[in-house]
Amino acid sequence: MRMMKDETGRGMRDASLKEILHGVSRKIGRHIPFRPHWLNLPEATIAFTFDDFPVSAYETAAPVLEAAGMRGTFYLATGLMGRTENGQPIATAAMAADLAARGHEIGGHTHGHINVQRTPRAALLADVAENEREIRRITRTAAQPFAPPVAPALAGPLAAPGRPFSFAYPFGMVSTRSKLALMGRYPGLRGIGIGINHGLVDLAHLKAQELYDTAQDRRSLGALLDEARARRGWLIFYTHDVRENPTAIGCSPALFRAAVEEVAGRGMRVETVAETLARIGARQGG
Ligand SMILES: [Zn+2]
Repeated sequence: MRMMKDETGRGMRDASLKEILHGVSRKIGRHIPFRPHWLNLPEATIAFTFDDFPVSAYETAAPVLEAAGMRGTFYLATGLMGRTENGQPIATAAMAADLAARGHEIGGHTHGHINVQRTPRAALLADVAENEREIRRITRTAAQPFAPPVAPALAGPLAAPGRPFSFAYPFGMVSTRSKLALMGRYPGLRGIGIGINHGLVDLAHLKAQELYDTAQDRRSLGALLDEARARRGWLIFYTHDVRENPTAIGCSPALFRAAVEEVAGRGMRVETVAETLARIGARQGG
């Protein structure tokens, strides 16, 4: 009886210890820079990124960016192509190829849109390898008649044509283990920790700002842009769907246009995440 009580007690301690360690791993993963980089940009730089690459981002956001001479980064979970996620239809391979050919970046987001923190390492690596293969297959074909603007800076054995250069953690899930497993594969990895990247940044966990109707309006966007300019920071916006009546993690066309106008009105520099990474000398495994 006493023995059983001890066993139960130990079992509970083990379980709670495991949870604590999990929490510690997440905390360390979020707050300790694993790939520290001193960001010293000559001027503030803005990126527009789209997680999951919904069809509406392709149809609505990409043309707005292009009309302003800008390009965006679309984080594609290749296993979701042509399916739906969070109720939103996700882009097809043809749409991804088209945007790549138009100079946009197609970034990695895992193949199965998995929680990288909870996936065993071998399965995680197999999944992201599949995502990379698929993106390379899609963008290599598209890029044939087209010289991507970032190509010259991406020399190196791992910078194969079309290989995704940046990655966004699905669900923003970042932990020590997932960072260690993934940071060697991409020069830059983006989370959803809020903030403007400036000073000492973590290339394995870049900060981002929501571009959601539920989180921003034109005024708050303007204030963010002014702050980015004052800090000469790297402000990475992220959103999902861009359509009328957007989801809680999406953006209306009006708010998206407002963001682009506020950026253009300030004459601010806009780049894909890959372009900025290449410009600051970030590379795979480095
Ligand atoms: Zn996602």
